Amino acid sequence: MRILFLIAAIVGVFLIVRILLRSPANKQGPEATGRIKQQGSMVRCAHCGVHVPHLNAYRAGERVYCSRDHALEDARSRDDG
Ligand SMILES: [Zn+2]
Repeated sequence: MRILFLIAAIVGVFLIVRILLRSPANKQGPEATGRIKQQGSMVRCAHCGVHVPHLNAYRAGERVYCSRDHALEDARSRDDG
């Protein structure tokens, strides 16, 4: 009977230690970084400098803009100057 009690105690301590080690960091870590990755990186508008999500950005050649208007305005101002 003593050995059974000892084994139960060891298993219990092992489970408690495992739960304590898991809960603080591992629960938040992968979830939080996953959310940031899903949103995508931010890119800077070449015209006004506003940061917009990568997916919402408007592209014209190598340049990136927050909107189509800024892409057109920037193209126009570069033609002038
Ligand atoms: Zn802009």
